[in-house]
Amino acid sequence: MPDSPQAPAVLSVAVPSPLRRLFDYRPGGPPPACGWQPGLRVRVPFGRRRVVGVILECRDTSDLALTDLKPVEACLDERPLPDDWLWLCRFTARYYQHAPGDTLHQAMPALLRQGRALEARTRERWQVTADGQGDPVPSLAKAPRQAALLAMLRQHPHGLVTQAILAQSFGREQLLALERKGLVARREEPRTASPSPSASLLAEPALPLNREQASALAVLHERLDAYHPCLLHGVTGSGKTEVYLQLIEAVVARGRQALVLVPEIGLTPQTLARFRSRFRVPVVALHSGLTDHERLDAWEAAASGRAPIVIGTRSAIFTPLSHPGAIIVDEEHDGSFKQQEGLRYHARDLAVARAHRHGIPLVLGSATPSLETLQRALAGDYQHLRLTRRASRHAPARLELVDLRGRPRRGGLIPPVLDAIESTLAAGHQVLVFINRRGFAPTLSCHACGWLAECDHCDARLTLHRQPPLLACHHCDRRRALPDACPDCGSADLRPLGSGTERTEETLAERFPDIPVHRIDRDSTRRRDALEQALTEVRRGEPCLLVGTQMLAKGHHLPHVTLVVVVNADAGLYSSDFRALEHSAQLLEQVAGRAGRAAHPGRVLVQTMHADDPNLRLLAARGYDALAERLLEERRAAALPPFRFLALLRLESPKEAAVNELGARAAEALRAHLDRRRLEVDCLGPVPAPMERRQNRYHLQVMLTAERRSRLHEAGAWLVAWLEAEPAARRVRWSLDIDPQTL
Ligand code: ADP
Ligand code: ZN
Ligand code: ZN
Repeated sequence: MPDSPQAPAVLSVAVPSPLRRLFDYRPGGPPPACGWQPGLRVRVPFGRRRVVGVILECRDTSDLALTDLKPVEACLDERPLPDDWLWLCRFTARYYQHAPGDTLHQAMPALLRQGRALEARTRERWQVTADGQGDPVPSLAKAPRQAALLAMLRQHPHGLVTQAILAQSFGREQLLALERKGLVARREEPRTASPSPSASLLAEPALPLNREQASALAVLHERLDAYHPCLLHGVTGSGKTEVYLQLIEAVVARGRQALVLVPEIGLTPQTLARFRSRFRVPVVALHSGLTDHERLDAWEAAASGRAPIVIGTRSAIFTPLSHPGAIIVDEEHDGSFKQQEGLRYHARDLAVARAHRHGIPLVLGSATPSLETLQRALAGDYQHLRLTRRASRHAPARLELVDLRGRPRRGGLIPPVLDAIESTLAAGHQVLVFINRRGFAPTLSCHACGWLAECDHCDARLTLHRQPPLLACHHCDRRRALPDACPDCGSADLRPLGSGTERTEETLAERFPDIPVHRIDRDSTRRRDALEQALTEVRRGEPCLLVGTQMLAKGHHLPHVTLVVVVNADAGLYSSDFRALEHSAQLLEQVAGRAGRAAHPGRVLVQTMHADDPNLRLLAARGYDALAERLLEERRAAALPPFRFLALLRLESPKEAAVNELGARAAEALRAHLDRRRLEVDCLGPVPAPMERRQNRYHLQVMLTAERRSRLHEAGAWLVAWLEAEPAARRVRWSLDIDPQTL
């Protein structure tokens, strides 16, 4: 029985579980001062564990007898988690048909997940103890970073707060080590509220805008109080970021907050510095390098409104905002906005939903918009703002196709291209060589019998690496020693096949011995600031060669590069994935955008085996926009997105028979349901995934397509319910991917 009119009998709680449902509990423990409400975190017994869940509904009845309900052990919050955040989580769980508990958990900082209090009203200040003052400290003889940190702290008799210490690139581990040794001590102190934005919002003046930038900004200024989705469509270097900065200025001046999403690769110290040097107010950055404490702190700062500007990668879409004013998604076409496992959300699409909900402007920026966004802009659903001119003197370089057929290659490059590199270097400029394969060569082969090094666990070749020498699978990360002889025929004549970044680097270093070659890929930049270090050197402007994967292609401003070479443009041309060409054209245009950004015009040489390919020729002759329009026509004709909606049921298991059986039964059951309900949803498959075997697991998929999104969702919901009730589905890992980005 409820003990007061406010106390509900039943709390429906989202707990971390893959099940798409809530679990009912009775109120228990001391009731929160605000009363039981949706949005409060609670600690509850769940199976044999105790977990942190979130109340989503307060009700009077349950499907279970009230006496069977377990009581909540404790309420963990004094007030509910932010409203806008809760709304977004519910929306996400519903839209992506994902378990509510898992959605909430993924969308909250780790410390909240673990039950920590949200209110970060205090902060830690670190001071040197009496022991730490003695000189020298023997226990630090082998810990130079700790010694340096201690030395720095000694210069601050009043101590330093954690944030200031971490900003000096010391780690929390070093602080804790010094604390354990009794050399420093911490104390908690109240956090002061941040100053409210004043007249001196800007730390440096905004640039005077060119005509196109000014008219784009004027359009945005006109409707700051309403949902106003815009595509800011501008070539690389056309000044999109400057438009974002000035929009943010207007938003913050009105006491509102701006949320900026950037691709994983784009949140560089350079980008951050650009935002931070413009504004006097704090710019909170959310990225993978944050500690759990920093992340919670940033979350709280955004939720409380202390942080007027929040910038982050994909998951930052889940940052609560107390005064939302605008959302900006830079490089909206970038693949990193879509999460490819677990909760498979697309941050750009959630940004659209969120801006709509808040009634605020949304800016999707790109030089190469996704066909989804472009179509909406062309159809007038989004305002289409164009920036056609570069802020610098030079128009973006066109692609020049270079036919690879029948030409000898060294390190993947043919003689005329090597000559072009030579003359560019001789003129004192820099060259960027783009090759989308790391390692030395895509595989190792036996010249005697044709054997190819293949992964035992995947349908994939092993990549040959030289630094250090080994064979590695880029799909499952398995490594193998280099064989001395062919395992099939025993021949010792094993040769690398094709080129990766290491081989191209080696070739260029041999051919241009006096010129520094910087290789930039996931292997060469494992060390934390290796990339920034290389780029700092490159920015000094001496002639040099850059060899890199897409890490290099995106976002970086490389003013001295005047020649870009694409080693092979063919990857996306004949793929079974209908989006491959779109993605590959976006990447080519991005790479090309690195050429000639400053004083000198640029050239882009694109090597290809398919120099006659009509799509590649259109891209080269007329650029991305022209190709995108042709691709849209093809998609319309083929009834593919954005003209039709897609969902993909993915199934995987180590047992091939188990996936095949379940896939067939699920598709059959779904087809029968679709017929019965006349749902106008097509079901294709099951078919093996493009790489059927990965990490020794078999992957199968069933595709659902529909002209109406609501129908697709209805079918998806039915399928998910069928799978949840199906005992055989417990032995197979499955997920429904709504709006899949790769097949
Ligand atoms: P995008 O984001 O479209 O790639 P950016 O905003 O980074 O373009 O601008 C490219 C370069 O041009 C930057 O160095 C920027 O400072 C400069 N720039 C942008 N807008 C202007 C302007 N109105 N006047 C002068 N320089 C500008
Ligand atoms: Zn052999
Ligand atoms: Zn593998």
